[in-house]
Amino acid sequence: MAAEGGAAPAPHSSSNPPSADPAWAHGIVVDMARRKVQCKYCNRVLSGGIFRLKQHLAGIKGEVAPCSRVSAEVRIQFCQYIKEKETSKANISRRRTILSGIASKSKVFYVRGLSPTY
Ligand SMILES: [Zn+2]
Repeated sequence: MAAEGGAAPAPHSSSNPPSADPAWAHGIVVDMARRKVQCKYCNRVLSGGIFRLKQHLAGIKGEVAPCSRVSAEVRIQFCQYIKEKETSKANISRRRTILSGIASKSKVFYVRGLSPTY
């Protein structure tokens, strides 16, 4: 059986999001090495990775400016998402067996020292 041709798409693509995080539906990776993410709604570029984008979409003040163009629906969605995450931290001793795999991945996003604005 011969192959149909050399046009098969390569499985490796640098534009792939690093995880199946729901926030990727609302943002674009600008510079993965510097963890820069652009908001699809207001085109603002956030440095700090996907977590910053979530805070931006949720309108949580303090670390990032809230999005001015995101719909209330999406804002509420990420508000709840972040709250749930905070709540799950309280129960981490119970869930640590499940979370241990996820936590080791997400640590990448908490590495500091690369963001020039803070
Ligand atoms: Zn925005």
